[in-house]
Amino acid sequence: MSETIKFGDLEIPVARKSVKNVHLSVYPPHGKVTLVAPNGTRLEVVRAYVATKLAWIKAQQRRMKEQARETPRIFVERESHHIWGRRRLLSVVEKDEKPSVRMDHRRLILTVRPKTPTPKRNDIMQEWHRSLLHEAIPPLIAKWERKLRVKTSAYFLQRMKTRWGGCNPKAKTLRFNTELIKKPKDLLEYVVVHEMIHLLEPRHSERFMALMTEHYPSWQEARAELNALPLASEIWRE
Ligand SMILES: [Zn+2]
Repeated sequence: MSETIKFGDLEIPVARKSVKNVHLSVYPPHGKVTLVAPNGTRLEVVRAYVATKLAWIKAQQRRMKEQARETPRIFVERESHHIWGRRRLLSVVEKDEKPSVRMDHRRLILTVRPKTPTPKRNDIMQEWHRSLLHEAIPPLIAKWERKLRVKTSAYFLQRMKTRWGGCNPKAKTLRFNTELIKKPKDLLEYVVVHEMIHLLEPRHSERFMALMTEHYPSWQEARAELNALPLASEIWRE
């Protein structure tokens, strides 16, 4: 029989697992709440715990709603863009030459041919994001192949709506969300480690958590930070 906890219009399904503590999560883009409770814990106890977290749940949901409303980038002068966790102001140069993107400490300089439409500007920027990720990811995979004593066969960059990465343990392939370009580099490494540990343990089991703790002790903080940072409007918008 499935259990749920209700607080006003908030309805939380309760999943039972052999875990030690209650795990409560709020997911983008709509602020969906999930709860995993230890098998033996009475529902009233779980409910009392959730009651202490209501303000936090509401705050998370509010933040996600605000992010969902964030306006999409249109690639104009002085628009802000995040690269590796740092905000930079866009500068657009119209020139009749091969389009390019350059970056310094404060600015992102997009050179496009005159009258280049927004979708095309977006394509140029996406392509540049991918090239930065293709520079950053292979050394991280090589590092963690050595540390974890695993082998990968390939990795792919992909725009994903709800996930930062993925792993196919049988094919030994990894997938990474191109949105990671907007996050600090150490969070990219956290996602790389997470997905590569799936080569040792496919499920988010206790063994998986133990391996994460062994190899990346601050994984919980990294996960929280990743989920707290602004998400791209073009991804989380419906
Ligand atoms: Zn995972």
